[in-house]
Amino acid sequence: MSETTIFDKILAREIPADIVYEDDQVLAFKDIAPRAPVHYLIIPKQRIATLNDATPTDQALLGHMMLTAAQLAREAGIAEDGYRVQMNVNKGGGQVVYHIHLHMFGGRPLAE
Ligand code: 5GP
Repeated sequence: MSETTIFDKILAREIPADIVYEDDQVLAFKDIAPRAPVHYLIIPKQRIATLNDATPTDQALLGHMMLTAAQLAREAGIAEDGYRVQMNVNKGGGQVVYHIHLHMFGGRPLAE
């Protein structure tokens, strides 16, 4: 079992977050340090530390995270213009919080 993170506290409502979506599998909330006008994090309620720790039993959950990102982009009005979905893995990939999460961000031109 991986260590608890700040995202467990958000899931438990022990610290506040600007929640934009929740269902039985995932929670989505605004990133505290947004890199674009729209920047949401989509996290599973089940704690998985990194994508390297995911197994085939997590396949449907990972797909659900992606489809949730697309749905939230549509609801934010940025789906047609375009947006980015990103998951950082481990230190070299820029991961800081060890509870997997999808970044979904857009609302400005994203070069490169
Ligand atoms: P990572 O670098 O692990 O892929 O991304 C972690 C993200 O979580 C960062 O973009 C950071 O701004 C965000 N973050 C860290 N702590 C908090 C928090 O307490 N609340 C919210 N809403 N976002 C957070």
